[in-house]
This record gives sequence, C-alpha cells and structure tokens, in this order.
Amino acid sequence: MTIHPAYGCTLGCIYCYVKPNTKKGIEVNKLGGPELVTALSLNPHFLPGKWGTFIALGSITECFLNEEVTAKTIEYMYWINKELGNPQQVSTKMIIRPEISEKILSMGDPYLSVLISITSINMANLLEPRAPPPIERLNNAHYLNSIGLRTSVFIRPILPGVTDKENEILLRESLRFGIKELVLGSLMINTWIMSKIDKLGLPVLSNEIKSRAKSMDRSRLSPIYASDLKQAMKRAAESLGFVVYPAACAANVASHSQSCYMCDYGPCGNTSNLPEIEDEKELFEIIGVKVKEAFLTDEQRLYVKTSSPLLKHVVSLVKTSTRRRLVIKQ
Ligand code: SF4
Repeated sequence: MTIHPAYGCTLGCIYCYVKPNTKKGIEVNKLGGPELVTALSLNPHFLPGKWGTFIALGSITECFLNEEVTAKTIEYMYWINKELGNPQQVSTKMIIRPEISEKILSMGDPYLSVLISITSINMANLLEPRAPPPIERLNNAHYLNSIGLRTSVFIRPILPGVTDKENEILLRESLRFGIKELVLGSLMINTWIMSKIDKLGLPVLSNEIKSRAKSMDRSRLSPIYASDLKQAMKRAAESLGFVVYPAACAANVASHSQSCYMCDYGPCGNTSNLPEIEDEKELFEIIGVKVKEAFLTDEQRLYVKTSSPLLKHVVSLVKTSTRRRLVIKQ
C-alpha cells in the first residue's frame, strides 16, 4: 500500500508521471500521524502488524524533497512503526542527510528498505534536471548502508537505448559504493510523458519507446515492453554477484528478514520463515467465510473451495496474512 507524505514533485524528471501540484509544486499531506494510523486501521484492504501489508512511502511525491516533506515522511514512519509495525519502504533520489537517517533509525522503521532511484549516469542532467547527481545518490546509499539502513539501487525506469546501454557503468558504480542489491523497474507512459520525452530531441529514445509501447493513453499509464532488457540487465548483474529482486516489495521483505510467496515472482526471502498456518479451514471461518475445503499445497499455494463469494479485500487480507498465493475454487 502506498502512503503519501505529500502530493506532487518539483524535480521535473522527464519520464515521471508525477506533476507539480498547486503553485508551490507540492502539497504536504494534511493528515497528522495519528490520523493516518486511524485511516489505515479503518481501511478494509489494510492488515496492520509486522507481518501485515507492505508499506511504500512516496510514489506520487519525493519523500525527502524539502524540510517540510521530509518532516512529514519521518512523522508517518514514526506513527506507523509505533502503532502498526508494518514493514516500510521508501524510494528516493534525494540525499538523506545524517541527521535524517538517524531519525529514521531511532524514530522511524530501523529496518526501513531504502531504494535509491537511478536511470542513467551519463544523461542524468538531461533526464532529471533538478535531482542530485546519481554518483552523489550512490555515495549516499553507501553511507546509509554503513549506518545499518538496508539500501538497494532501483534502476528505474529502464529507458530503452539509454539505461540498458549504461548497465555496465551503473553496476560498476554501484559496486564501487558497496551496493549489491538491485531492483529493476519499467517505464510507464502516457501521451503527456511521451511528449516530454519527444521534446528532448533524442529520436532513438523516442522511437524505441514507441516501438515498445503496448498502448498510449492520454491519462492512463501503461508499461512499455521491457522484459528482454530486464532479463539481460539481470543476468549481467547476477554475474557480478548482485542480488536482483523481482520487484520492489521483495527488497522490503529482505530488509525486514521476512519471507513471501504471495505472487509467482516468489518465493522471496527465507522460505523457511513463511508464516505457519495452523488450520487452513479455520482461517477462513474466523473471517466469516464458509469453506468446503482448504489446504496448503506442496507449492505453498493456499487452496480453498467455497460457495461463498470472496470479496477483493478478503482475498487480499488472506494473502497478506499468510504470505501465500490463493487458489479459489467455487
Ligand atoms: S512473492 Fe511477490 S509479492 Fe511477495 S515479495 Fe516476492 S515479488 Fe513481492
């Protein structure tokens, strides 16, 4: 589940879907920490607790954009950790200063999963005009790791013809700063993002993206086809000893020493650590679902046969609490 300390961003990264919000460019979330906790607790899709819903901070803002947003981010981390305990993750391009890192460790989530986003080193000035230089981000990642904050490089978005061509340098520089954990992320586009990319005047990049676009809507975001690039980048990284996570949530799982097999990308983390299910049938009956049959398969799928309709939030809560894939037969 994504939590937003603010709305909007002023970094102006060309490929990004986040627009400046209001004249100031950003609007800090008005909800205080205790109110956020209440809102989450009332959300039927949210499971509180250490083994509850994975939390990702940001996604429609930059969590450390300025003092005000940073303070809100720390406030949310603190209250989530104090009252709920869910595993938290943040992705950023900003430099997290020592005093902020100390606050994360002492007041926020000490096992916070930090993702340092990078797309390109050579073309960062053009693509991310107001973000700190990628080498400074990697240097910051090195510092964060050194004080005990588990930090991975998030190569996202993979811009075809740019990021994949720089894979070697991205990996080499990450290693130079002691980062050996990686997440790869695809580009999401709509016509607005495409028009910003077109304005760069890089026809190779524009054409490559258009040829890989599955669809191009005015507002809805769609991922471009990039599995081939991801696979090649993953192979190169693994040959250098990187751990390549299949998705951002897997880095969150590792950072919190948990395990998960909620989707076919898994298993992630230490599978011997998956939550035990004492009585599969009872698990459903506790939440008011009558089942004919329920058991765990050898492949760690939770199989359930029921004539009752399973609401979306019930499915999500069962998957989250058991960290298993669910097979429903009706
Ligand atoms: S199994 Fe799927 S949902 Fe769970 S951490 Fe891995 S990638 Fe994420």
